[in-house]
Amino acid sequence: MEIFLSAHLCMGMRGVCYHSARRRYPRLFQGVPIGFKLGIDLGGSKLAIAIADADGRLIAHQTRPSPISGDPEADVLTIAADAADLISRSDLAARDFDAAGFSVPGPIDHERGAILAPPNLPGWEDVPLRDKMSELLGLPVRLENDANAAALAEWRFGAGRGAHNLVYLTMSTGIGTGLILDGRLYRGHRGRASEFGHSCVEWDGELCGCGQRGCLEAYLGGAAWTRRLREIAPATSRVCALAGERELVLPEHVVAAAGEGDAFACEEMARFNHYLARAITALAFALVPEVVVLGTIATAAGEVLCLEPVRALVADQVWPTLIEEMRILPSGLGDKLPYYAGVCAASEG
Ligand SMILES: [Zn+2]
Repeated sequence: MEIFLSAHLCMGMRGVCYHSARRRYPRLFQGVPIGFKLGIDLGGSKLAIAIADADGRLIAHQTRPSPISGDPEADVLTIAADAADLISRSDLAARDFDAAGFSVPGPIDHERGAILAPPNLPGWEDVPLRDKMSELLGLPVRLENDANAAALAEWRFGAGRGAHNLVYLTMSTGIGTGLILDGRLYRGHRGRASEFGHSCVEWDGELCGCGQRGCLEAYLGGAAWTRRLREIAPATSRVCALAGERELVLPEHVVAAAGEGDAFACEEMARFNHYLARAITALAFALVPEVVVLGTIATAAGEVLCLEPVRALVADQVWPTLIEEMRILPSGLGDKLPYYAGVCAASEG
């Protein structure tokens, strides 16, 4: 387990911080509520837990492999124990917190505080996470779709600070989209917005994991792209050399090989940028955001391989009057994003 406790704070024996929060926040000694927030980001591969103060400053955080075992009852107990452990190592107690936030893969039933059946959490079907976790932690718990929570995090603490209209688009295993419109999170009817990844960009196109054809996710999603690469990457390409063998090729090998000028990797990046620009074009005409924040693959690929070509493609297609102030930016929070996503879920979920 990777554990971090803020370097600003007192570090006790063995790198564990015992008196950190109380030294930094003397009002805690007087029993005055500080309004700490506990943020938890539960993904298919990682569990990130963070503690932030009322201004959103991270006090402590840790990441470990996701404990998803197929038994949600046991998994919830593990997550709660991890969170309680981080709270106690920070010398805090549940009474010092306003709320806990859970950033989780959708879909979510907001009214019941339940996770419905996310593909990335096998065995988790209709799990009343909010009430179970609230009981275990002794705190009010709020749930938020992970893409919405990431959009909130980039808006409040990352690349989108100061904007009133922001689109967050991430391309990890699937596609996540979060919208901040007119200065607030847009959740849509019954809180089910954020599925732009399944809008059709090619009629009768590639088969998507959702069962439809031609979805954006079938072109930009990491899982779909990985499947494609393992079918078509030439054995002589730098992509296969970096991966070791074709069956192990991942999108990050394309990014690395394109950086070295490999022809196949450059073609694949051009295809990725093309579909990403299609997505941003549709969003730009519909929403006229000030900021489009791109996560994961686009952020890893960077300016030359992704952001500059995408900006040029979008500028060719969208009326200048709509995008003259629109900025297309990489994530501003990088690997801290899951912590801020959880913390933002505590505030807004
Ligand atoms: Zn789909």
